[in-house]
Amino acid sequence: MGNREFSLLSVAVVTMTLTGCARPTTVGAEDMHKLPQDGMLSVRELAARLGLHVADTGRASVELSNAANMVLIFTHTSGRTYVNSVAVGRTGKTTTTRGVVYVRGDLEAAIRPMLRAAPSEQEKPEQKPEPQPLRGRRVVIDPGHGGKDPGAPSCLGYHEKSVNLAVGRDVARRLGTQGAAATLTREGDTFLELGDRAALANRLRADLFVSIHADSCNKPSVRGFTVYVARAASARSRSAARAIASAMTATGLSSRGVQEANFQVLVGTTCPAVLIEMGYLSNTQDAALLRDAAFQGRMAEAITSAISVALGSF
Ligand code: ZN
Repeated sequence: MGNREFSLLSVAVVTMTLTGCARPTTVGAEDMHKLPQDGMLSVRELAARLGLHVADTGRASVELSNAANMVLIFTHTSGRTYVNSVAVGRTGKTTTTRGVVYVRGDLEAAIRPMLRAAPSEQEKPEQKPEPQPLRGRRVVIDPGHGGKDPGAPSCLGYHEKSVNLAVGRDVARRLGTQGAAATLTREGDTFLELGDRAALANRLRADLFVSIHADSCNKPSVRGFTVYVARAASARSRSAARAIASAMTATGLSSRGVQEANFQVLVGTTCPAVLIEMGYLSNTQDAALLRDAAFQGRMAEAITSAISVALGSF
């Protein structure tokens, strides 16, 4: 008999135990002894009571879901139960009998108030198209370094190139949802000459070129972000840099302001161009923030909103 048949049988037996139903059953007395104690429910029964189905049963967790909800029940010792990513408490005792996972029956009462109503076909709100304020704008996002060139080492062990790429990709994705044609100079961990990065922006006749880097120096206390423009930068480059520096303060990193430097990617581009140093990898706090995916998301959000503002003023 396969596990699936066993689990169906066990659910039937548990249901009967709970409802006092005395229909004949093929489960013998020996099997009855192996059923979990009172107060336990099979996950399938729990799912049915909550209007969910068992989406996945792993070694240490069970996932129940429907169109609007995902319930994750971690079954290991001191595992927790989560409803739509919110912890509702410890899962408590669980048992597994012949491949069927049983959990405490009172989990039902803990999970139920946290469930969202599943949208019915009639109630579905009309899908409104996303506003696309940047339609027709082209931005080149340049995640610094890559491949054989790792960039600055961080005091926490990783290298600059990985953070630059994570944030750069996120900025490009966010710009894309606003309708911009956002092109990355590198999509992965590949090496690209500095000249080729600027040349790409020139060839695409970009409206803006944004190079993304992270700083390092030999004084561990130095921290904060800096936005650079070339010494002979255009007014548009400077206004984009000011908008980016202003938006980036929302991430909580300290600002070292807008500064001038003739980086090759800045002087090689014919369009407005800025270079962002997101923080100091030689500083423990900056390095820890820049490694954090949630922080990278906030950074990308700030940079994207500033690019949007800058392009709106061009
Ligand atoms: Zn760099």
